[in-house]
Amino acid sequence: MNKLFYYKLIAESLKNELNLTDIHIHFKNIYKGFSSAKGYISIPLWTLKNNSYCIYYIIHELCHQVIYKRLGHFKHDADFKNEETILLNKFNLIPVYSKSYVKELIKNNISVYKRTYSNE
Ligand SMILES: [Zn+2]
Repeated sequence: MNKLFYYKLIAESLKNELNLTDIHIHFKNIYKGFSSAKGYISIPLWTLKNNSYCIYYIIHELCHQVIYKRLGHFKHDADFKNEETILLNKFNLIPVYSKSYVKELIKNNISVYKRTYSNE
């Protein structure tokens, strides 16, 4: 199966699971992804290089929509991190936070992503 198609499927099924049926997700050749108040999510294509990181990125942006609908903000606060952690755990991923973002992802006791300056 085509990698992009695979991640699109994951994104769409997560979106439906979270009852975010009105949200639009696009994978684009951009440096930084985003989640907008109008319900648009963009995921950078370069994240496809690392399976776990790509899933984290999808979850991160979807989480913004969940929190926006529930609490009306786009902050990376404790509520956001709790929601994000719950979703990551469904994929067997444990996040290690540094301020707002995840600096490392652990899966089955193995580090599957470590932040570097080039992909921050
Ligand atoms: Zn964010």
